[in-house]
Amino acid sequence: MSTILMNLDEIILKPKEAIFRKKAEAVIESLRKRSISAAFVDTGTQAVEAICKMIPDGSVVALGGSVTIMQIGLLDALRTMSIELLDRYRPGITKQETEELALRGMTADILITSTNAVTADGKLVNEDGSGNRVGAMIFGPKKVIVVAGINKIVGTADDGLKRIKEYAAPLNCIRLGVDTPCARTGFCDDDACLAPARLCSQITIIESNRVKDRMHVLLVGQELGY
Ligand code: SF4
Repeated sequence: MSTILMNLDEIILKPKEAIFRKKAEAVIESLRKRSISAAFVDTGTQAVEAICKMIPDGSVVALGGSVTIMQIGLLDALRTMSIELLDRYRPGITKQETEELALRGMTADILITSTNAVTADGKLVNEDGSGNRVGAMIFGPKKVIVVAGINKIVGTADDGLKRIKEYAAPLNCIRLGVDTPCARTGFCDDDACLAPARLCSQITIIESNRVKDRMHVLLVGQELGY
């Protein structure tokens, strides 16, 4: 017999957690069919532990621009490891140094990034301004670790593109201080959005991974990042 939840905390949390898990299970199955390995953890703390274990000492590790990486404490943990971290978030870093790190990141051992959306059928949908993040996701680093909160799961690739234009890109434009239509009004105006400010300069959909398990997606049962 099914149980009706009565406690307010349970009413709010239990159905969400149950749906998170169901969605994650379906997405993991879909990703594996595309030669992308995948796993689910409940919390950001567990994600940090899992990711740190995947990184051998001495690795050169690059970072994609990601609020999620900072939010779960992964950046702090990486800074304590015996690795060469190409730390684009180092205080005081110059624009030129950031560009040099982005270039080196293309041949790093490991890229750690998030994604703007992951679809129910296992595709990764992303926008990028300069293209170094999506470029390195596609080719270069020997391993790519993608960490994403459950809020990044969408139905289809079109839903992923909609999520980018209506939600992720406007917030990222504000975060990065770039003057785009969505930063000014909250709404995308594609035709009026021009370089160099335009964040959605590269839009990619990763549909499979030809090098089996080069890419690993870790889904976290929390709402994280944009
Ligand atoms: S206004 Fe520009 S940066 Fe913002 S969502 Fe639209 S295309 Fe992307």
